Amino acid sequence: MELSGLQIFKYLPAAKKTENTNCKKCGFPTCMAFALKLAKGGISPEACPFMPDELKKKINIAQKISQKTIEIQDLKIGGENVLFRHEKTFINPTALCVLLDCKDRNFEDKFKQISNFEINILNKTKKVDLIVLKNSDKTTIPSNKERTISLEDFEKLPVKIIEDKDFEKTAQELKFIREKAVKDKDENYSNPVCVHFSSGGNSIENFENLTAKASFYLCKYANMLLFEDFNEGMISSLMMLRENIFTDPQKPLKVEPKIYEFNGGDKNALIFLTTNFALTFFAVASELEKLNRPSYLIVTPADGMSVLTAWSAEKFTAKMVVKTLKDYDLASKVKTRKIIIPGLLAHMKKELDSEIKASGLDFEIVTGTIDACDIANFVKQF
Ligand code: SF4
Repeated sequence: MELSGLQIFKYLPAAKKTENTNCKKCGFPTCMAFALKLAKGGISPEACPFMPDELKKKINIAQKISQKTIEIQDLKIGGENVLFRHEKTFINPTALCVLLDCKDRNFEDKFKQISNFEINILNKTKKVDLIVLKNSDKTTIPSNKERTISLEDFEKLPVKIIEDKDFEKTAQELKFIREKAVKDKDENYSNPVCVHFSSGGNSIENFENLTAKASFYLCKYANMLLFEDFNEGMISSLMMLRENIFTDPQKPLKVEPKIYEFNGGDKNALIFLTTNFALTFFAVASELEKLNRPSYLIVTPADGMSVLTAWSAEKFTAKMVVKTLKDYDLASKVKTRKIIIPGLLAHMKKELDSEIKASGLDFEIVTGTIDACDIANFVKQF
């Protein structure tokens, strides 16, 4: 585990109120300043001659790598150093891989299906991360072998492979290995971990079972999942889950603030407005796409905050909305003069209307729905 500045400070003379408190021999004005700097890295613990051995030992352990990062072509796995995402962040998303036997009589079709499979999540294309080829030789390896590896080479990687035979045992083993790596920095457990699922056939029951188990292992703590059975629904579900687990909690998910057009926005298009929080944007955008009529979505800059958070943090103000309308020159783009705002901002309607009027614009604010899924019904009655 990493040590915080306060955890380090506890061991220093200033915290213990002993001789040498804030003596400056380390080059810092106080023990606290030294502790904070040491926690950030870049200085040696040896700079303080009064550091107890117990703390030196803890720092030595803390400075070791928890888990190695392995690169397979441009795929990175491992490198994790926390048990829970909220402690800091997870680093490399769990790789979703498929093992294919080149001697399988349907090999070519299966290979084509897996390598061509892709889905779009938050404007990013997601594909199977790696295809592991069993019984491969120069004649059977497909020419399109990007992100493929032979089973022989795969088995030589410094990756711990767990055969998934019993759910409880696999789950416990994954937890044990990650705790040894992160808490104890035990080098015997620092290799990334792959769970290998043997083929269970193509039944729906098998894929439901696989998806449930794989979802658990993806959260705790597999770096790689290797399937012998491929199902687009299963892989898509795991990709969606992975997208949620491996987002950095310190970085808000945001989209570019601008006017988005749906179904070929025209002069009479409906106008909606929201902030640039990605989850809100995609929920609203998918409803507007389904409307089958032209619409515009004005996305205001709000540091990726949701509408109510942005309003309470003063990132969504009437003045800012007016500025956005003027910056985008919306008045010249549309004849429509009604702007539909999220239902959660109903309390701002009057303030927005008067700010818009004072600015010389002739737009009118209409309060829309709280939930994006109600937009279609709202529009029918609008
Ligand atoms: Fe504190 Fe050690 Fe720096 Fe002196 S040398 S100020 S005791 S951290």
